[in-house]
Amino acid sequence: MRIGQDGIEGMSIVMESSYSIDASANLIRLKVWGELTAESLTELLNQARADPQYVPGMHAIADYREAYGNWDYSEIQRFRDYLVHIAVPCEVRWAAIFKPGNLAAAGHVLILISEAVGSDIKLRMFEEPAAALRWVRGADRPEASMSHKFLNGRVEVRTGDITGLPVDAVVNAANSSLLGGGGVDGAIHSRGGQEILRACRELRETCYPRGLPAGEAVLTTAGNLPARYVIHTVGPVWGRDQQPDALLASCYKKSLALAADHSLESVAFPAISTGAYGYPKDEAAAIASTAIMEALSQAGAIEQVSLVFFSDADRDVFLANQQF
Ligand code: ADP
Repeated sequence: MRIGQDGIEGMSIVMESSYSIDASANLIRLKVWGELTAESLTELLNQARADPQYVPGMHAIADYREAYGNWDYSEIQRFRDYLVHIAVPCEVRWAAIFKPGNLAAAGHVLILISEAVGSDIKLRMFEEPAAALRWVRGADRPEASMSHKFLNGRVEVRTGDITGLPVDAVVNAANSSLLGGGGVDGAIHSRGGQEILRACRELRETCYPRGLPAGEAVLTTAGNLPARYVIHTVGPVWGRDQQPDALLASCYKKSLALAADHSLESVAFPAISTGAYGYPKDEAAAIASTAIMEALSQAGAIEQVSLVFFSDADRDVFLANQQF
């Protein structure tokens, strides 16, 4: 855990503030006291995001219980615009708790939640911080808990953070170095801890000195994750790798074959290659679903495959293009 800067002073602004980055919980926690303006808050968030421990896509929760200020609607709009500007759509969620007297008209603590969903930010209020935190993590959102099922319930499609799932194996959209990266990879290593990296280094030193080729899959410990294992697979880079469709199908098939070899029953996949590797999400949906269907017909022990999308929009593209 790392504690950030205290106290930002502007012309007529005095804001005592701090942030801490809790890498194991994939969370930035902001604490704010004193007079609060959109500028001072923006500056604090920028500092947190510039911290070496910050991982893109990290959730953030802020506690403003001792803060005061006069945020009117245009101030909220400006802050919303800033969130849109900095947010990778749907990968950043913010929670804030305001003291009565500023945003709160009534005398109770007002908790303001804003969620970046494309250019649409939703604001939510809660009575207490624990409820805000649950919402930030997705547990209270109906769309997060609502799942769509295929193949007699053997495959479920949902939104959420894959690193929080207590399944037998979480699949990592790794890169061939196996030594970590951004997106799902960054989130898995940061929440799973050093044990996963150690296991990956060992694989590099033994079986894969030149890195794991695209389309292949390997299994390691899951370190501090709630899952038991991580299956690392390397998706094709769109526009660079030849026959990307065959490689993407192979990622799903080999990951499931590996899970079956280890007698695992539940496996969660992210949308491999559709982030930094740029695979079109609609085409990836057709390939992933077809590959999973074929693999499951040969892997009888696997009871549950979860396809986890980071945003409702991504999930909906999948649902519209899947071939189950
Ligand atoms: P790749 O390099 O294979 O494209 P990325 O990790 O960049 O892999 O992205 C793959 C997909 O996973 C993207 O659609 C991204 O939005 C999503 N994603 C990123 N982080 C998470 C997470 N923690 N849980 C679930 N999905 C995630």
